[in-house]
Amino acid sequence: MPHTLDLQFLGRSGVIATAAIPCDGGVILVDPGPTSCLVALTAALATHGYGLGDVRALLLTHIHLDHAGAAGTLAQAWPGLPVYVHAIGAKHLAQPEKLLASATRLYGADMDRLWGAFLAVPEPALRPLSGGESIAVGGRIFEVLYTPGHAVHHVTYLDTAERTAYVGDTAGIAVGGYVLAATPPPDIDVPRWEESLTAIAGLGPASLFLTHFGVVPDAAGHLTRYRAVLRRAADRAREAVRAGGEEPALTEAWVGWLRADARTVAGEDAAAALEAAAPFDQIWQGLARYWRKRAERDGAGALDAPLT
Ligand SMILES: [Zn+2]
Repeated sequence: MPHTLDLQFLGRSGVIATAAIPCDGGVILVDPGPTSCLVALTAALATHGYGLGDVRALLLTHIHLDHAGAAGTLAQAWPGLPVYVHAIGAKHLAQPEKLLASATRLYGADMDRLWGAFLAVPEPALRPLSGGESIAVGGRIFEVLYTPGHAVHHVTYLDTAERTAYVGDTAGIAVGGYVLAATPPPDIDVPRWEESLTAIAGLGPASLFLTHFGVVPDAAGHLTRYRAVLRRAADRAREAVRAGGEEPALTEAWVGWLRADARTVAGEDAAAALEAAAPFDQIWQGLARYWRKRAERDGAGALDAPLT
C-alpha cells in the first residue's frame, strides 16, 4: 500500500497528500505538492525511512501548483529523476511562464505564501504522456489513463499489482465524510469529466488515492458518489448562472451555501480543510465559467436543462 504523506499545507493536516509508493531501490512519489511544503514532505518521507535522494520517479496527475509545484525543484536537485506528466502539462513545466501567470490571476499576492518557488523542470527529465502507456519504475508497473475534466491535461495512474488508482483531483475531494466537487477555473469540462469517471471505473480499481485526501478503500462506491456530487454542483451553478445577478453576490451565495453544507456534514475542522484544498469561490468561478462558455457556444438555451 502507498504511504500517505501529509504535507501540512498552511500548517493544517488533511489538506494535501503525496502518495509515497515503495519500490525497488527507493520510493515513487505521486504529486510531490508545492515547494512551500518541501520541509513537511521531507519530514514525512523520513518517518518511513526515506530521504529525497531515494525518490526514483515523480508521477504527476496534473500540473496545478498544489500537486506539482515542487517538481522542478526536485528535478533540478536530482538530475536523472524522471517526471511523468501529460504532454500538455510537460510544456508548461519546461516553460512555466503561462502556468504562473494563470495561477497569479487566481492567487495574486498570495502566490509565494501558498506555493513557494516554482522552478522549471529540465527538458531531459520530462516523460510526456498522452494516456494508454505503461510505466515501469522500480519493479512496479502503472497504467496511464487520460482523465480530463478537472484539467485538460489530467492523467490517472493505476498500480497494476495493488489495483490502486492515483486519481489526483478527478474523483474530487473527500475529507471528514464530505465529498466536494473540485472545479477551479479554467479547464472544467463536466461531460468529459463524467467520461473520465466511467473510464476510471472501467479500470476496476480496488482503491483510489485522492490528493485531497488519501486512500479511499471503496473505489466503485466513491466514484458513484462523486459523480452525483459533481452533477449536483454543476446543476446548482447552471441555475445560478441562468438566474443571473451581480458577480460578488453570486459568489457570496455560493460560498455561503457550500460552507454551511460542508459544516453540517463534516464539522468545522474538516470544512476548513476542504476550503483550504479548494477555495469555495474558485469552485464557483470554475463552474460559472464553464456554463457561460457553453451558453456562448450553444445559446442561452444551454442553461435551461439539467445535465443528462
Ligand atoms: Zn488539487
